[in-house]
Amino acid sequence: MKQMNVLFVGAHPDDIETFAGGTAALYAKQGANLFFCVATNGNVGSSTLSAEKIASIRHQEAQKGAELIGARLIWLDIDDEFLIDSRETRLKFIEAFRIARPDVVFCHWIDDYNPDHSTSGKIVDDCIHMSTVPLIRTSSKICDKIPHVYYMDTIAGVNFVPEVYVDITETFDTKIKMVAQHQSQNSWMKDVFGYEMEAFLEIPAKWRGLQASCPLAEAFRPSYKWGRTFQKHYLPQG
Ligand SMILES: [Zn+2]
Repeated sequence: MKQMNVLFVGAHPDDIETFAGGTAALYAKQGANLFFCVATNGNVGSSTLSAEKIASIRHQEAQKGAELIGARLIWLDIDDEFLIDSRETRLKFIEAFRIARPDVVFCHWIDDYNPDHSTSGKIVDDCIHMSTVPLIRTSSKICDKIPHVYYMDTIAGVNFVPEVYVDITETFDTKIKMVAQHQSQNSWMKDVFGYEMEAFLEIPAKWRGLQASCPLAEAFRPSYKWGRTFQKHYLPQG
C-alpha cells in the first residue's frame, strides 16, 4: 500500500516542530512521507546578526529539525513578518503543495497571535484546491486530489478550541530534540519573552493531554470546507 504523504506548513522555521512535532514524529514512525514547508526565512529574528546571516542560520537549523525524522524541507524564503497574501505568495504555496502531493496537510490556525501564522493558515486553506487546477501553472505537475486540512494549535493554546488530539507521549522526546535544533530561535525567544524552550513545550502538551486523557498531546481542528477528503481519518495513533 502507498504510504501517506503528509505536508506540514509553518510560517517560521521552528513552528512545525513546536505545534505538531510530536504528531510528525508519529507519522514518521508509521512510514509516512513527510514534508516540512517553511514559508518565511526568519530574517528578523536576531538583535546582533544581519538579516542574511540569521536567515542562513535558520535555514540550516530547519534542515536539521526536519532531517531528524526524515522530513523533506521546502523553504519558501519569504521575508519574516511580511507574509502577505498575494499572487506571488499563493503560487509559492501551490508549488509546495505540488511538490508534496499530500494526503493530509497541517497548517496554522487562522487567528493566531502572529500575522504570518494566521496568513499562512488562511493561504493553505484558501488555496489547497488550486493545486489541482491545470491552468494555474507552477513548475511541478498538478495534484490529483484535494487533501484534508488540519489546523495546528496556537501558541499557549490561546483562542483555539481543539476538536481532535494526538497522543504524543511516545514521541515527545523527539519533539524536544527537533525544536532544540532551532538554537538561534530558542535563545532569541528566551531574550525577548523570557521563557525556557522545554517548559514552553511541556506545559501545553500536558494541558492538551489532560483534555484528551493521555499524558502528553497535541491538538488540532479540521477544516470543513467543501471538497476535502475528511471521510477518512488521517491522524496517526500514538
Ligand atoms: Zn512562528
